[in-house]
Amino acid sequence: MEALRGFVADMLESEGAAIAPLEPDGLEVLTPEPLRAALGLPELARLGFGATLPAGAISIGLEGDWLDRFGAVLGERGRFAERRLVVAENAVAPSDPERLLDCALDLPNAVWRLQEAKPAWTRCLLLAFRYTAISDEKREGLIWLGFNQGTGAVIGGDILGRLRTLLASVADWHVPEPDTRHAAGAAWDATTFAARVQPLVEHHVRRDLETFVNAMRRRLDRDCARVHAYHDDLRRTAQLKLAALGTAPGEKAEADRKRETMRIAAIEREYAAKLDDLRHNYALRVTVDWMQGLALFAPVHRYDVLIKRRKGERIIRIDWHPAIRMIEPPPCDWGPGVGRTRLVCDDRLHLTDVSGQAPCPSCSKSWCRACHPAGCPRCQRAV
Ligand SMILES: [Zn+2]
Ligand SMILES: [Zn+2]
Repeated sequence: MEALRGFVADMLESEGAAIAPLEPDGLEVLTPEPLRAALGLPELARLGFGATLPAGAISIGLEGDWLDRFGAVLGERGRFAERRLVVAENAVAPSDPERLLDCALDLPNAVWRLQEAKPAWTRCLLLAFRYTAISDEKREGLIWLGFNQGTGAVIGGDILGRLRTLLASVADWHVPEPDTRHAAGAAWDATTFAARVQPLVEHHVRRDLETFVNAMRRRLDRDCARVHAYHDDLRRTAQLKLAALGTAPGEKAEADRKRETMRIAAIEREYAAKLDDLRHNYALRVTVDWMQGLALFAPVHRYDVLIKRRKGERIIRIDWHPAIRMIEPPPCDWGPGVGRTRLVCDDRLHLTDVSGQAPCPSCSKSWCRACHPAGCPRCQRAV
C-alpha cells in the first residue's frame, strides 16, 4: 500500500492540500475546497493505507470507490505526456556493432550489411491499454506496449520493462526541447499509427487471455457434454419404446407411437435450445480502451543496415538504447513484430513476421501481406 499512499500524497499535494505523514502507513491531510467536496473528506482528515489504521483514520484501499474518486479529480490529466530521457554523457557505444546486430537480426531469406553507425535522437511511444473480457466470467487486465517511431521497431518485452523501470526510478522530468523534437523526427500519422497499434494490441490481449479462454472452453465443453449425455439418454429411451411398439395394429398402438415420436421431437428441440443457452452464456466479448501514453524522446546509437534480397536492397534503421544498454528488434512492416525473425519480400523488401509471407490457405501462393494487406493477389481471398 506504500505505492498508493505515495500516489495519494502526491495527488493531494498537487491539488493544494497540506499533508503530513502519519504512522502507521497513514497521512494527515488538510484539504481545501473544492477538492474536499470532490473526495468527500472533512477539512482535517487522517487517512490510513495499511492493515492497521492510525487512530481515527479513514481506511483508503483499492477496494471501495476511492480509486473512482481519485480518478474523477484527475479527469483527463496524466493521460498523455512527453518526456526526454537523460543518459550519462559517458555512455559508451557497443564496441562490436556487427556482433550486436547479428544477435538482433534474424533474416532467413536475406543478407545484411552495416552501412553506418551514429548517435541520434529518437521518438518512442509507450502506450497502456485496459482490456475487459466477459463471458460466463469476467477478466480485466492492463497491457503496455511501445514503438520506436524513428525506426519502426516494437519496444516490448524486456526492453519495455527495463525502460519503464528506469523511467519510474528517475524522479526528474525533462521536457523535450524544440531541438530534440526536431532531431527525433516527426511522429507517425494516424494511418500508420492505427496499422501498427491494432495488431500489437490484439497480439497482447490474446496472449494475456489465453488461459482465461482455455478455461472457458473447458467449462463449455464440459457443459456441452453434460447436456448431450442427458438428452441422448432421454432420446434413446424414447426410441427404444418406439421400437418396442413395432408396427402393431390398433388405435392404442398408433396413439402410443405418435406420443413417442412427439416426445423424441420435443427432446431434440430442448437439446437445441439448451445448446443455444450455452452459446449465449459463453459468448466472449472483449473491449479494449486506451489508458495512457508517453512520448519518450531518447538518445540512441543508430545503425543503418543495408538489407539485400535477390536484386533488391533497402536500408533499415536499428537503434541501440544506451539508457538500458539494449538493442531493439528489427522493424516490422506487417504483423505484431515482437520477435527478431523477419522475412523479406521480393517486390518491395518489406520486413514482415514469418506469417506475413505465408502461403495462401486457398490457392497456396506465398504472398507479402505488407504489399497486399487486403488479401491474396491471386485468388483475392481476404486476410
Ligand atoms: Zn511486400
Ligand atoms: Zn490465394
